[in-house]
Amino acid sequence: MAEVLVLAEHTGGEVKKVTCELLTAAARLGEPAVVWAGPGAEQGRARLAEYGAARVYVADSADFDGYVVAPKAELLARLVAEKAPAAVLVAGTTEGKEIAGRLAVKTGSGVLTDVIDVTAGPDGAPVAAHANFGGSISVHATVAAGTPILAVRPNAVSAEPAPGPAELVPVAFTASDAAKTATVTEHVVAQKGERPDLTEAQIVVSGGRGTGSADGFTIIEQLADALGAAVGASRAVTDAGWYPHAFQVGQTGKTVSPQLYVAVGISGAIQHRAGMQTSKTIIAINKDPEAPIFEIADYGIVGDLFKVVPQLIDEIAKHKQL
Ligand SMILES: Cc1cc2nc3c(=O)[nH]c(=O)nc-3n(C[C@H](O)[C@H](O)[C@H](O)COP(=O)(O)OP(=O)(O)OC[C@H]3O[C@@H](n4cnc5c(N)ncnc54)[C@H](O)[C@@H]3O)c2cc1C
Repeated sequence: MAEVLVLAEHTGGEVKKVTCELLTAAARLGEPAVVWAGPGAEQGRARLAEYGAARVYVADSADFDGYVVAPKAELLARLVAEKAPAAVLVAGTTEGKEIAGRLAVKTGSGVLTDVIDVTAGPDGAPVAAHANFGGSISVHATVAAGTPILAVRPNAVSAEPAPGPAELVPVAFTASDAAKTATVTEHVVAQKGERPDLTEAQIVVSGGRGTGSADGFTIIEQLADALGAAVGASRAVTDAGWYPHAFQVGQTGKTVSPQLYVAVGISGAIQHRAGMQTSKTIIAINKDPEAPIFEIADYGIVGDLFKVVPQLIDEIAKHKQL
């Protein structure tokens, strides 16, 4: 069975959830083999084994930390030439998509981004599902040239445990001079609170202009904390400076696909939907019964968010005490 390369997303030895999701998708196409760039593979190995990695190509080089994304694309291109995999899967993050694009150019291959599901076609080749134009059109696409490269959105595929040996295979790697033209000059670890990462969270609570102000927006944080959720925001909120741009969901913000998305005081403009409409369950709270968000909501509450949300928080607290 041909290998399917999965580029691991990790922080040191901590494997990100999206990597497990990619392993599950890869197993549908062939034998999952992880490509691990940088240190930490020994610590990450157990989790990779739990989700079905047959082997882990470990390139423990300092070049990955020092030079933006080009060395990772170079490493993948080399492994594509050596291993002739059936496909390469990367996370559909900003970095992952850039790596996918660079790898496609290097290998003369087709690339599919914003993939929300992966299946094997009749010939075994990957078929990628996309939701386009705010989810109004579903598209299935295949790659017609080279090695299929797919950037799969975090949270789109459910990770399923499937034990594998995760044999560690060292790979000697030094980035070329061409891959070192953009240098990382400083790493600043983002202030991470208790809340989960927005793109990886199982539950996201997002607030819109309906919250009225930066002060009003704190009610979104309170509901998120009650649910153990990440906080998101519409562009109206981030443009107004009520919440940082890093939390914007939508076409020009983050793409999320949680189990549960709660849209509070958000109208549901197509640009917002583009970033959240693949969420598994959507709840909308809006005082306007005609708000477009209700068209895609599984559950809707028509009401003033400042009356509805405190009641919700109370009920959640009572439920936790049971
Ligand atoms: C090129 C481009 C890119 C864009 N990218 C993005 C993007 O990435 N993300 C994004 O979000 N937008 C994006 N936008 C903007 C988008 O078109 C909308 O303007 C924006 O999403 C509106 O945000 P909103 O729903 O919070 O505000 P509004 O559209 O003003 O909606 C506010 C909602 O709150 C409700 N409301 C008001 N008060 C209350 C209350 N007390 N209780 C309950 N409900 C209440 C109202 O009924 C209304 O439905 C983009 C636009 C363009 C042109």
